[in-house]
This record gives sequence, structure tokens and C-alpha cells, in this order.
Amino acid sequence: MIARISLEIALRREFDYAIPAELSGHVDVGSRVQVPFGARKVLGVVTAIAEESGQANLKPIIKLIGAQTLVTAKVLRLARWIGEYYCCAPEIALKSVLPEAVRKEDAGWRERLHVRALPLNSDPPPLPKRQQEIWQLIQQRRELPLAELVALADTTAATVRKLEDRGLISITSKVSERDPYAREAILPTQPLALNPKQAAALEKIKVAMGASTGEANSPTAKSFLLHGVTGSGKTEIYLQAIAHALAQGKGAIVLVPEISLTPQTVERFKARFSSGPLQTLVAVLHSHLSAGERHDEWHKIRQGRARIVIGARSAIFAPVGPLGLIIVEEEQEHTYKQEEAPRYHARDVAVMRGQMEGAVVVLGSATPSLESFANAKKGKFALLELPERVDDQKMPLVRVVDMRQAQYKEKGPPIFSPQLKEAITKRLERKEQTILFLNRRGYSSSLQCPKCGYVANCPNCSITLTYHRTEQKLQCHICGHMEKVPAVCPEPKCKNPAIRYAGTGTQKVEEILAKLFPNARVHRMDADTMKRKDDYRRVLGDFRVGKIDILVGTQMIAKGLHFPNVTLVGIIYADMALHQPDFRAGERTFQLLTQVAGRAGRGDVAGEVFVQAFTPFHPAIQYARRHDFEGFFEQEMEFRAQLKYPPYSRVALLTLKGRNEEKVKFSAAHLRRELEKLLRDGTPAATATASDLFAGEAAPDTATTPVAAFKDLVIAGPAPSPLLRAENFYRYQIMLRTGAMSRLSRALAQIVVATNLPNDVTLSVDIDPVDMS
Ligand code: ADP
Ligand code: ZN
Repeated sequence: MIARISLEIALRREFDYAIPAELSGHVDVGSRVQVPFGARKVLGVVTAIAEESGQANLKPIIKLIGAQTLVTAKVLRLARWIGEYYCCAPEIALKSVLPEAVRKEDAGWRERLHVRALPLNSDPPPLPKRQQEIWQLIQQRRELPLAELVALADTTAATVRKLEDRGLISITSKVSERDPYAREAILPTQPLALNPKQAAALEKIKVAMGASTGEANSPTAKSFLLHGVTGSGKTEIYLQAIAHALAQGKGAIVLVPEISLTPQTVERFKARFSSGPLQTLVAVLHSHLSAGERHDEWHKIRQGRARIVIGARSAIFAPVGPLGLIIVEEEQEHTYKQEEAPRYHARDVAVMRGQMEGAVVVLGSATPSLESFANAKKGKFALLELPERVDDQKMPLVRVVDMRQAQYKEKGPPIFSPQLKEAITKRLERKEQTILFLNRRGYSSSLQCPKCGYVANCPNCSITLTYHRTEQKLQCHICGHMEKVPAVCPEPKCKNPAIRYAGTGTQKVEEILAKLFPNARVHRMDADTMKRKDDYRRVLGDFRVGKIDILVGTQMIAKGLHFPNVTLVGIIYADMALHQPDFRAGERTFQLLTQVAGRAGRGDVAGEVFVQAFTPFHPAIQYARRHDFEGFFEQEMEFRAQLKYPPYSRVALLTLKGRNEEKVKFSAAHLRRELEKLLRDGTPAATATASDLFAGEAAPDTATTPVAAFKDLVIAGPAPSPLLRAENFYRYQIMLRTGAMSRLSRALAQIVVATNLPNDVTLSVDIDPVDMS
């Protein structure tokens, strides 16, 4: 027998190896193996087993790593799809489906060393001071992991070994399972009686999952979009659908955006399944786990002890089997997209995995992405709607405050409108709490007149032009259109000469707040102030018990939090999300405003939201004010249709990067010509390459298979990226739009290999990008 193996080195192909007699019967699809490759030994994953190979003289596999296959054949198929669709090498796709901690040859719980105090037969020997301290510590604890001791005593393993040499302690390896949530005391919860809307939604999901115990997954498993306002009881539906999966003997994966993977969220799932007949462990996977924790969580899943997995993006690859249900919370969240190869979107991978494994997929959101809602309208997803809050609470009252400067005497752009100031004062008097939200993406990449709200847009692409301050020019990063920065605001009625000094100081907010409300207890919450693992939990704890009056924060506080005493939410500059050079800027603003507004009035007192904006009449702001998702959807779809943006097409973003701007620019222009030839006309590429034109660089030939022409293709660019220079690299982009993305990805994979670029220019391909910078 032979095994086909994908090696963990960057080669876009698989290799055949012989299975030696002693391993026969142990090597399977998904097995991790070590094989000879040239003079080296490398690791790989078996992707297929076959009777014979096209090649002769196969080398044998050296050894098998780990007793259990780590990737299931199904997840392997998923990885293959990711490689193809997201245009990356299969071994890169494979790497993403197995976390590093599990992949490493020597990682595991058997490796963990424990230190134990040994009984003393005689008087303790005299010890140097340091060793004495450490020994005392060990005696107190009797036994503890070596790593923990080293950290606790601020010492080294070598010093601890000295005590072992003296016969005072033993150091042995021991299986010990890490539980990142071990310290929590969790009270079990029971399923709630659902209201009629919830019950109807759950019923449909259950029908799709199959009713009876142990029933095989249906071959035409369905995907649902659950559109429900914040507080409409979506999570309760998830919990009961998961219970149904467990009762059927199946498992579930719950994806949540990294940012809302709070202890609060995890607890709700653990609490429901910590006891009772459906009891199971809930594994948690996210990026803040240590390698050891990650390893243990992963094995709990693989061994079937944890049948529910809750985690961020990469949890979609968790080896749950059989898999009955996948839930994607806040499906519109951009953190589901991985920003390095493989650049997969976990929501889309979830839908694909559901189809491959016959599992039901539920995408949930209060503000679905346009793509998903359009899919629901087309019937690709079944739409479930929960238009009201469970407790009949009203949606908060949203007031839009016009910040255009005409009304203010201050020189710089104002930070607090009189309305918001007054509202905060009232809350302080009534001992109610306030959340103030600022957008973190504070670099002012657009040009906006602080007086009238005018923003410079590209005439071709309907996106904000990027403001390059140093060169005083405005440029579109989709089509490359360029213009000079106007001397005065172009609005005929405005003509404000101060337009180029627009810009906003978000850091100032906390400072000004301290001046305006000297007695208020203010706390800021953003990536800068949340350095340690526990900071987030601690601050939220303080806020919950009322030790903080005003919480100022970024995206971090936009979601999932539930504080009954918060009656006021202020959004300082709603425009900041609006005027990003991105065709999704309006959609993002709408989502953000809706989510942030959802933080207000979750208790007995109705909530109030102040949205401060320089463009108060923008549709994204106005529809959010009325809580009108459908209205926003209709209007935004019209705009997307005009320029064939998604959902009317799919986008591939090609980015070229290098230290020499001229080379990058030139290579981008060359690539565009190649793309035109190959994709528009469907002819093979010509042989001239960019690197021919730079002396001294090799130019291998560029044989490519011809591709059929793409009739609906739009090629835009090259144009400089909005962040043209990042870390001393210049970046240029080309944007492709087509309805036939699977086919385009395959063609692009060929083009990437065949197009010769100078050695110091790199090309990356991002399919369905969410970050356009
Ligand atoms: P969402 O996930 O849509 O924001 P949740 O599921 O968190 O909504 O529900 C909001 C609140 O309402 C939670 O405190 C939840 O326990 C409660 N809740 C949900 N469903 C019901 C129900 N059927 N009866 C009573 N309370 C419910
Ligand atoms: Zn443009």
C-alpha cells in the first residue's frame, strides 16, 4: 500500500510514499507522519491511501506521529476546498485546520512535568537560601506542575533540578489537563419556555436536523439565517438546538467573533450542559489560550468528551464527529476572515462544512451581512426572523446630533455636543450608567469638511478618496483616480478654507471627559488599556457592580454586553466608520450603530442613544436611527448593483508589495496586462515578464494552460493601497470582480505561479476580502 502525503514545506503538490510492513494498518487518511525528503526528514499528513502509485521506487514512511489520526477525512476535504477556493497551496490550507500546538511532534499532556515533595527520613539538609525558598514552596503545595513552580518562584528548571539531585523532590511527567475556565463556579440553567416566534424558528431548525435519535444527517442539510434584534432570544434558540443535536448523539460547533468570546458568553453554554442527561464538556478555542490549553481542549474534542465547541474563527476545524449543528453568531463580523494565508472566511467555510458533513448551519445576527441577507432572499439560506425583544422592551430611542461646525463656536471639531453633555449630566445625577463609544480606526483617511460635512468621493467607484497628507493629494485605491486637495471646500454654499485641517483627536475624549465631569468615575477600555488577560473581565466586573459611571471604549464594548443600568450610549463620531475608503463603509456603520445602540436600555429604564455625526443625513445613520434593517438593505443593494460590488459579484484583491515603489508599480501594471490577456480574452500568457525588465533577475518560462474568458469580469487598478506605505513596504492593488469566483480562483492560482515578478516584490491574493486597505 502507498500513502499520498502533503508535506509541511511550501510545495504545491503531494508525494507518494510506501507504507512499511510494520506500519501497515496503522496509517490512515489524516495520520501525521515523518518521511524522508531529500536529505531531510519532514512532517506531513496522509491525504489518501492507494494500492499503487504512478511512480516507482517509493521511499518508505519513517514513522507515525501520535496514536490517533488528527484530521478527519472530512476536515481534510474541507482543507482541500479552502486551498482551491482561497487560492493557496494545499499544505498552507492544511496547516490552518490543525492548530500549531496539536501539530507539533512533541506537544502533549504526557510531556508535562510535575514536581512533588518527597518524604524526609532525616533532618533537612542545609540549603542555599534560594533553594530553601523553593523547597518550602513545594512542601506547601505538595505537588505542582514544574512550569507553574518556575513562574511562581521566579526561578529556572535547572535550580529546581538541584533539589531533585539532593533527593528532596521528584520530577515526573504526568498527564494533567488544563482547563482555562477551571476557576469559574457555574450554576446550571434549564431550557426556557420559548415564545411563539422562538418556538417556530427552533422547530424549523429541528426539522432540518432530523427528528429521531441517531438519524443520519440529511444529504441536503440546510443553512439558516436567523435575523433577530439584540435581545430577541437567539442564544436560547441556539442552546435548545444544540440540546437536540446532543440528544441525536451528535455534536455542535458554535463560532463567535473573537471579540465577544467573553466569559459571559462561554458561561451560558457551559451552564446549560454542565449537568443533566445531555451533560458534556464544552471545549473553548480562541487565540488567548496557551499552547498547552489549546492542545488539551483539542484532544477533549477528538476523544468525544467535549461534544460542544465554542470558539473563534479556527474552531470551525474542530474535529467534532458526528457533527449535527454549526452556529455562527454575529455572522457579519469581520474577524471571521483570516487576514493571512489561507485567507478563509469562517462563516463561508461553516456553510461549506455543513454541506459536506450534512450538518445544519445557523447564521445569526441582528444586522446580517448584505451577502447573507441576499442569500436568504434568493432562497439559498432559509430566513428565520425575530423582530422583537423577548421582554417586550422597546428599542432605544436614537437621536442623531448634527455636529457640523456652523453651530459651534469652538475652533477644532467639537467632541461633545451640548445635547450629549446634558444627557451625561442627567445620568450622573440619576446614578445611571453611560457607555461612550469611539471608533478605533482613528486615522483620518478621508477628507471631510468639519463645517458642512462634505466628503471627497471617487467619481468612478463611489468610495471615499484616500487623503495622502504629505503629498496633498486625494486618490482612489480601487481605480487609481487622483486629484489635488481642494484649497477650499467644494460645496458652493460652504467654501470653508479650513477643510484640510480636518482631523479628529479621539484620545482627547477621556481627557475632556475628566474636565467636564470631574466627579465622574470614568474608565477607558481599548486595546491600549487592556493589556493583561484579566483586565477585560475586571473592568466589566467593576462596571457591572456600579464602580464605574462612564465606560469609554472601542469596538470591544460594542457587542454582547448586557448591563441593565446603562441607559445612555453616546457615539462620538459616527462618521469615522462611514468615511473609510471601502465600499462596505456604509454597511459597517449601520451595523456598528445598531450594535452599540443595542447596549442601551437593557433594564427597566428605557435607553437613549446619541449619535454625533458630521453627515447626519447619510442613509446608514438614518436607517440605523429607525432600526430599519430592511430599508437599509434595499437602499444599499441599489448602490452595490450600480458598480457590481458584492453581493452582485465576488471580489478578488491582488496586492503587490515591495520596498521599491517603482518596481511595485511596474509589476502591478505588468500583472494587470497579464490578467487582461488571460482572463478577458482567455488566451495563454505571453512570455515577457516583469523580471525580464529588471536586469540580473532570472526569468523562467511562463507556460500556462489557457483559461476560458470571463465575460462579466471587472478589472480595476492598479492603484496604491489606502495604507500605501506600511512598515516600509509599498503596496499596490488590483481588484477583480466576477460572478464566477470558483473558476476565477483556479485561473488565478495558475497566473500566480506563471507570472514572474521581481524577487523583492510579493503578490498576495485575497478572495472575498473584507479589509480593503
Ligand atoms: P439574543 O441572543 O438575541 O441577544 P438572548 O438569547 O441573549 O438574546 O436573550 C435575551 C435575554 O432574554 C436573556 O437574558 C435570555 O435569558 C432571555 N430570554 C430568552 N428567551 C427567553 C424566553 N423564551 N423567556 C424568557 N426569557 C428569555
Ligand atoms: Zn475609483
